[in-house]
Amino acid sequence: KTGRITKEALMTILVSACLLGIKCKYDGNDNFCPTVAELAGQNLIIPVCPEQLGGLPTPRYPAEISKGKIINCLGEDVTEQFTRGARETLKIAQLCKANRAVLKQNSPSCGSRFIYDGTHQNQLINGTGITAKLLIENGIEVISEHDL
Ligand code: SF4
Repeated sequence: KTGRITKEALMTILVSACLLGIKCKYDGNDNFCPTVAELAGQNLIIPVCPEQLGGLPTPRYPAEISKGKIINCLGEDVTEQFTRGARETLKIAQLCKANRAVLKQNSPSCGSRFIYDGTHQNQLINGTGITAKLLIENGIEVISEHDL
């Protein structure tokens, strides 16, 4: 065993940074998930936070998808920042040739199966976050921390 890392031996996976313990969540905390962190030992992990990549601060006001737009709890339209974050995340995935992603469920950016319903009443519905959707449309397999 030489200890050399070969490209072939590693799978490149895009991961929601908050799942790895990075404090990029809207409230300044993280969503650390030990199962996701374990992936880091065996794969090349690319941590991303689409909302920060879109230019939003941390902490920031929580936002939900409502009628095709992203609206924060103050009623401000942050669709542009979320869209920019999704595009920047796709760019990173393509640069790194990551064809898989593990993204945080329920987020208006990262959710792959569930999102909040837009009422800011803590109600989940079936749906896909804006970044997860763009990645899927571009052929990247997106799963959540619950699918591992
Ligand atoms: Fe985590 Fe995604 Fe929200 Fe960033 S945008 S805090 S990575 S769920």
